Amino acid sequence: MGKGKFNKRDILLTFMLIVVIFLLYLLNTPINSKDNHKYSETIVFLGNKNIAPIIYEESGVAKGVAVDIAKELGKKIGYKIEVKAIDWEEAQQKVLLGEADALLQINMNSERKKVYDFSDELLESEFLIFVKSGNNGIETVNDLKNKIVGVEYGGYPYNLLQKYDGIKINTISDWKIGFEMVKSGELDAIVMDKWIGEYELARSKVRGIQIIEEPIETKYSRIAVKKGNGELLNLINAGLKEMKEDGTMTDILGDWQGKKVIYLTEESIRSTLLYTTIVILILVLIVTIYLVNKFSKLNKKLELDVMERTQELYETNELLRKANAELERISMVDGLTNISNRRYFDIVLQKAWRIGMRERQPLALIMIDIDNFKMFNDTYGHLAGDQCLKIVADVIKKVAKRSGDFVARFGGEEFVAFLYNTTEDGASIVAEEIRAKIENLGIKQENMETVVTVSLGVAAMIPNKNIHSNNLINAADQALYQAKKDGRNTVVRSSSLLNRE
Ligand code: GH3
Ligand code: MG
Ligand code: MG
Repeated sequence: MGKGKFNKRDILLTFMLIVVIFLLYLLNTPINSKDNHKYSETIVFLGNKNIAPIIYEESGVAKGVAVDIAKELGKKIGYKIEVKAIDWEEAQQKVLLGEADALLQINMNSERKKVYDFSDELLESEFLIFVKSGNNGIETVNDLKNKIVGVEYGGYPYNLLQKYDGIKINTISDWKIGFEMVKSGELDAIVMDKWIGEYELARSKVRGIQIIEEPIETKYSRIAVKKGNGELLNLINAGLKEMKEDGTMTDILGDWQGKKVIYLTEESIRSTLLYTTIVILILVLIVTIYLVNKFSKLNKKLELDVMERTQELYETNELLRKANAELERISMVDGLTNISNRRYFDIVLQKAWRIGMRERQPLALIMIDIDNFKMFNDTYGHLAGDQCLKIVADVIKKVAKRSGDFVARFGGEEFVAFLYNTTEDGASIVAEEIRAKIENLGIKQENMETVVTVSLGVAAMIPNKNIHSNNLINAADQALYQAKKDGRNTVVRSSSLLNRE
């Protein structure tokens, strides 16, 4: 391919570079980064880090519905509330030890009531049954009898299912594994909080799990403080009340449910974006490759077309060249006798004249004229005359055949033989040979008394700048004239004319 053309490799490299830059950009852009507290006094809330989307930990930061509620609560009561999502057991211990102020999102039970004081209702928790899709056997909690049911160890559903007889409770450590077990039939169901269940199901991407809408139980989670910390509890309750009344609580819940953000962590947003981008880029790549291919195909076709046209042009030129050459040849050759014509003779004579002048070589000219040709024509017709002209031309050509000899039809029934580097003596011998050969041919029509003969005039001179080449022609012509006068069928030398005068 040429320099200025499209290069497939260049396009691909540029494309890859764009992809890499875009991916790096995506991986380095945080989706959201906010949270800067403006309160001086800090209250520390601890939560279970494993109950997304209510509370969970991402990149060392606590997130979730309850976390958002706690932060708004801080604003209402005029304190900075710091939420830490940690191991649930550890969290409970820390509050009891006074290392933190409150537990965020906790369900009340008699055991816990002994050591903690609980706030008003925080979030509604519906405990639902998750089963394999199409499993019509399980519709209520009563259908779980003699079934193997998975729950989180230490969570509320574990206690809840104890109340029902005959349920084989299995604790599960990982929700994804739990859902897979339901799918494979190792577990008949899982019982868990609606928010957490829906979130984990979406995140684990396990398909074929169905949720029974009717909750086994609906409970309200709360905030717990160490028993006796009534001052903080009053503050929290006041804040919660205000949030419920002014709609802040509804707004937060709406945010998490309405936007479906609950199912998309920062990580999944990023990977979704990543995959979408990759798919789009691949599509762009395919289209680009297609277009480049199409372009180069078009280019090839164009190149072929140009080549074809060039070939055609070449052929036309070649034809023209041949035609011109033929034309040139025709313009130099006499059509009837096929020997050189007068025009060409003039050119050759000029050339030979110049060379002879330079090299001081004699040029000889023999003028040949058919005798009584008019009568021949008149008697036997033009066609017979033409035939005769051809025969005479052939004879002259055959006799004057040295490399310096040149024969032409001078006009009508007259011919010239031009002999380079030849004296009058030499030319006279050639002239006599021509005369004799033609006479000896015995060209004759049935009722003709004599054969066709020719008269010849011979002249020769060494050219010099004071003499024109026409002088040579005139000299030969005069000699020819004399030959006619002398009775025809004879050779007369130009030099002999001087002697006669
Ligand atoms: P002379 O012996 O004095 O040369 O007599 P002549 O008849 O040959 O000379 P003249 O010049 O009177 O006639 C020449 C004739 O040559 C006239 C013409 O009919 C004939 N002729 C000239 N060109 C051609 C030609 O191309 N074909 C034929 N058939 N005849 C030609
Ligand atoms: Mg004549
Ligand atoms: Mg004649």
